[in-house]
Amino acid sequence: MQTKLPKVGTTIFTTMSQMANQYQAINLSQGFPNFPIDPLIEDLLAKNSKENVHQYAPMAGLPVLLEGIAQMVHRVYQRDINPSTEILVTSGATQGIFATLQALVHRGDEVVILDPAYDCYSPAVHLAGGKPVHIPMREDFTIDWRELRQTVNQKTRVLIINNPHNPSGKMMDKEDFDALVQVMIDHPNLILCSDEVYEFITFEKKHFSAHNHEILRNRSVIVSSFGKTFHITGWKVGYLIAPEYILKEIKKVHQYLVFSVNSVAQKTLADYISGTDVTTLGKFYQDKRDRFKELMAKSKFEFLPSEGTYFQTVRYNTISNLPDVAFCEWMVKEMGVAAIPLSVFYEERNDYHTIRFCFAKTDETLIQAAERLCKI
Ligand code: PMP
Ligand code: GLN
Repeated sequence: MQTKLPKVGTTIFTTMSQMANQYQAINLSQGFPNFPIDPLIEDLLAKNSKENVHQYAPMAGLPVLLEGIAQMVHRVYQRDINPSTEILVTSGATQGIFATLQALVHRGDEVVILDPAYDCYSPAVHLAGGKPVHIPMREDFTIDWRELRQTVNQKTRVLIINNPHNPSGKMMDKEDFDALVQVMIDHPNLILCSDEVYEFITFEKKHFSAHNHEILRNRSVIVSSFGKTFHITGWKVGYLIAPEYILKEIKKVHQYLVFSVNSVAQKTLADYISGTDVTTLGKFYQDKRDRFKELMAKSKFEFLPSEGTYFQTVRYNTISNLPDVAFCEWMVKEMGVAAIPLSVFYEERNDYHTIRFCFAKTDETLIQAAERLCKI
């Protein structure tokens, strides 16, 4: 059979989590928390499951949840959005990104992606008939704006930015943000897909969000995920915020892709969101990041800056010459710890001997993992 996605296999997240299970290793690979969620969410879920919220939700989202999201966006970003025209609740950020690209990318359009890139972007562009154009970040995961400016052209329909950035944990500086705004000004037909799923998991640095700039607000699809914000990755509920003229097109895809999102989950999130202070999440994960680093003080891994997300990247040059995929396979089998190799996030498979650990784990898990990793 002629395949539509010849280069796509099983994702590295599935592969590494399966290996972690197979070898009974500690799983610091796929990004998900292993600690209990807020009991209030569990209570609200139990309550809502007994109420009459089991039928299709409205296509764009339950009105109470849309209202709750709009209020949260106002609290955090001081931005006013119209809940009925500028928000779309999606089945996770992944479906939101897919619907965005299906709606906006025409056959032959180019979509600029910065590598290392989260794995769902490129296949979605291909399936829309577009052409992903990959620009590698510098070795320290900063963006080469000169190269980006040379790459964006008349055919570029969408630029995808991910800030805070998975897998590196880097965040954009003010200079990056200014450069981004300038690119958008120079290319009036370009639309920004701003993947900000880790928007609340930020540490010392200020997060520059597309919400914060008028030019970006009017030309961006901003992607968020409740999975990251409320430690519920398995619920697969996220949302898009975009101006009405863009979101209208995305809704056309959404209504035939899923129509609407899990109603009980939406009602529960609506009940939960108003009383929840998302701005404390950064400190929570900053403590975990610091704890993990402290526990790893005696290890030979070189820690790279983790400025946001729940990921810590490390180099292992002084430990091994193996390519990063082979190194991760060795580590899960022989040392009992699973991590993610970074080369798989590059079109050109750049291998900087760098791997990613997820520190969204209990202290106990981090202690056990660090004990093993310090022996390498
Ligand atoms: N974008 C990035 C950068 C991510 O890390 C993830 C989740 N790992 C997603 C999108 C998808 O989020 P969701 O699980 O809500 O689909
Ligand atoms: N986003 C998660 C990560 O980066 C994985 C999500 C998935 O498994 N698709 O680890």
